[in-house]
Amino acid sequence: MARKVAIVEDEAELASLLDYNLTRNGYQACVLPGAKGTLRELESWKPDLILLDVMLPESDGFELCRQIRQSAVLARTPVVFLTARSDEVDRVLGLEIGGDDYMTKPFSPRELIARVKAHLRREEREEESLQVGVGPFRLDRTSRRVFLRERELELTSTEFKLLEFFLTHAGRAYSRDQLLGEVWGEQRFVTPRTVDVHIRRLREHIEEEPDNPRYLTTVRGFGYRFEEGE
Ligand code: CA
Repeated sequence: MARKVAIVEDEAELASLLDYNLTRNGYQACVLPGAKGTLRELESWKPDLILLDVMLPESDGFELCRQIRQSAVLARTPVVFLTARSDEVDRVLGLEIGGDDYMTKPFSPRELIARVKAHLRREEREEESLQVGVGPFRLDRTSRRVFLRERELELTSTEFKLLEFFLTHAGRAYSRDQLLGEVWGEQRFVTPRTVDVHIRRLREHIEEEPDNPRYLTTVRGFGYRFEEGE
């Protein structure tokens, strides 16, 4: 299936040049002149990447990028700014508000295609890492669901975070204090005992015999380790 690239650009000539080159390279392109309502159009078309002009007639690209980053549908879509101004301020501002890259006009169609390809490849890799699979466990970070074999586990948010940490750090032993730092972070009012309580609850979800765990084992005198198993 063709990947979709949105071109938000009010200069008609440039927009159609980009459209032509993207289409010729196998992408599905869509030109939006950047008027009001662009965000809604992007949300309904759901592009895989957005080329975003900085200077738009009714808004500016930076503001639109901020809205894109706050949109539930588009928040993770790569944004490449197209800018006529090459000064550092634009560039830094653009990247700080959630742009992934920028290109200074004029640029060659070849350069553009190379960047688009690179960003979509990176995005595919990131999507892969949103799926964590260890032994019979499969965790999906996007939907925040976790399965043991084909059975979905009903976990609380802390149990989910704890299991997510163990699945991504399988085979290594962690002390209670380390787990507190990694999973609970800045939260106060938690003690090493909190870890034990949550480990016990998590074992009830994932172990056939919670008192004789196969995956989430106790490292005596130290803490816990997740066994890669199977
Ligand atoms: Ca413009």
